[in-house]
Amino acid sequence: MNDSGLLIVVSGPSGAGKGTICSALREQFPNIQYSISMTTRKPRPGEVDGVNYYFADNARFEQLLAEDAFLEHAKVYDHYYGTPKKYVYQMLEEGKHVMLEIDIQGAMQVKKRYPQGVFIYIVPPSRDVLEKRLRGRQTDSDDVIAGRLAKARAELDWIDRYDYVIVNDELEKAVDEAASILKAEQCKVTRNAHRIAHTKELYK
Ligand code: 5GP
Repeated sequence: MNDSGLLIVVSGPSGAGKGTICSALREQFPNIQYSISMTTRKPRPGEVDGVNYYFADNARFEQLLAEDAFLEHAKVYDHYYGTPKKYVYQMLEEGKHVMLEIDIQGAMQVKKRYPQGVFIYIVPPSRDVLEKRLRGRQTDSDDVIAGRLAKARAELDWIDRYDYVIVNDELEKAVDEAASILKAEQCKVTRNAHRIAHTKELYK
């Protein structure tokens, strides 16, 4: 028998570097499974269905919503985003870690349903840096960027609902901090009941 894996929930404004940090963590921790979200927004150049997201239309998303197929869902910038529930629970049961890169509304829903998750918030070092990163991506219009900046500001008020905050000033340091969090969480006594029982057996 395994202990359940960690449900790792990572949030932060678009442009904070969540994606890059999460990819680096997945390289360091092969046990991490990435949960692919479903969204009704259109794919950006280079994004692939079933890799970055499952891209769906409103009707399909709403049908799955009615079937309670999502662990959480949210409407972000007029588009639906949701985490398919079945895959997440299946992986956790198998002792694998699951990483969710989701917004605050979704993270708070997960926290209600699965409070033993590890909730990490990534912040960019300043508003200016965030704006520069968003403009550098050249994917969004001025209006969209203004909206993302306003949202980033509003979301700062929610940080204290998370377990950990990482300021992504220097990528390497941010990844290192995130890895330390996961290593510590993996060692928690409360998460290692089966391993402890097994060790006790060996001392009989
Ligand atoms: P983007 O459109 O830039 O890929 O993502 C926009 C926002 O939606 C980001 O803050 C991202 O974390 C969030 N997001 C992506 N997938 C999900 C999801 O499954 N659920 C929720 N609640 N938010 C998501």
